[in-house]
Amino acid sequence: MNIKKTLLFPLMAALLLAGCSEKREEAQKQLAMQKEENLHEVTTFAMDTVMMFHIYHEDGDAILIEVEQEIRRLEALFSITVSDSEIAQLNANAGIQAVDISPDTNGILTRGLEFASLTDEAYNMNISPIVSAWGFATDEGNRVPSLEELESVLPLTTPDGLVLEEDTAYLQEAGMSVDLGGIAKGYTADLVVDLLHEKGVTNGWVSLGGNLSMLGTKTDGSMWELAVQNPIDASDYVGMISATDQSVVTSGGYQRYFEEDGVIYHHIIDGKTGYPADSGLISVTIVSEDSTKADALSTALFVMGLEESLDLWRMEQDFEAIFVTEDGRVVATEGIADRFVFEGRDNDFVYEVVDK
Ligand code: ADP
Ligand code: MG
Repeated sequence: MNIKKTLLFPLMAALLLAGCSEKREEAQKQLAMQKEENLHEVTTFAMDTVMMFHIYHEDGDAILIEVEQEIRRLEALFSITVSDSEIAQLNANAGIQAVDISPDTNGILTRGLEFASLTDEAYNMNISPIVSAWGFATDEGNRVPSLEELESVLPLTTPDGLVLEEDTAYLQEAGMSVDLGGIAKGYTADLVVDLLHEKGVTNGWVSLGGNLSMLGTKTDGSMWELAVQNPIDASDYVGMISATDQSVVTSGGYQRYFEEDGVIYHHIIDGKTGYPADSGLISVTIVSEDSTKADALSTALFVMGLEESLDLWRMEQDFEAIFVTEDGRVVATEGIADRFVFEGRDNDFVYEVVDK
């Protein structure tokens, strides 16, 4: 055999392959461009927060109208400020009578009770009377309640006060109430993602006031990337998460608070004290396929503090977390560490990864 020929063959094969992969790349690029052309984006205000949608689909506009209607429908069920919502009716009839509820209200209340029991009531939607005492539930303005007032409402915050049946719900004592502020956006995000999947949307993301849910990947096949905010400086971040088909939810005291006599009081309440949680954490970010759980747990773990949170994480299989602590640490659980790039060094944060 002629040496030249043997050399030529692999060379041609290599060229052919190169041609193929070029074509494949070209085809992929075109597909990505086509998909990019189908990008539809909408920003709206609902559930007391800014919502953004970013989806790829040729009927994207029509689909996003349906998404918005779905969100308004859920808001009309869950809001505590819309007086004829099922939750407002439940609260208004506390100690009086059971009220009729729809499957979605049953669904969210069922999950709320599940998380209260999972977190030893660190997540507790029945905490509403205390949230109201601090003025976080209404537009009436924030205030520091007296200890007597807190002591008088604390017994009204037990999750056992809620009697949940398939079609009805009842709060057993006058003064009891539920507040879905810590879970409603996650629950809504899960339903929105289901709706988008039903409509054939495979790529995109939805952000419900910072509750992010990702569908698939970017159009070029790479993962979505999102920043974990520096809770001390909103214009900065402590790292980047890569995610696909997951939800990422952050809770922190820095998101809603007021200041009185030089003290900052934020909106996540520790039911054991009646005061804003003070557990040594300044933010908790949860990554999970289940946005309802991510929302409830971001609130609960913020109340529980790092050590208790890690105990819970070790027991559970379906979420990962990134904590920012008051003493300047960024702590990631091992299941997210390979998809998290820490970038907080410049701000003197120290990075740690915890094993299961
Ligand atoms: P945000 O709604 O700002 O994203 P969260 O998801 O952490 O933040 O929810 C905080 C809201 O949940 C509060 O504004 C209040 O309505 C309610 N809430 C406060 N403390 C608790 C708690 N311990 N358990 C459940 N809900 C809570
Ligand atoms: Mg929450």
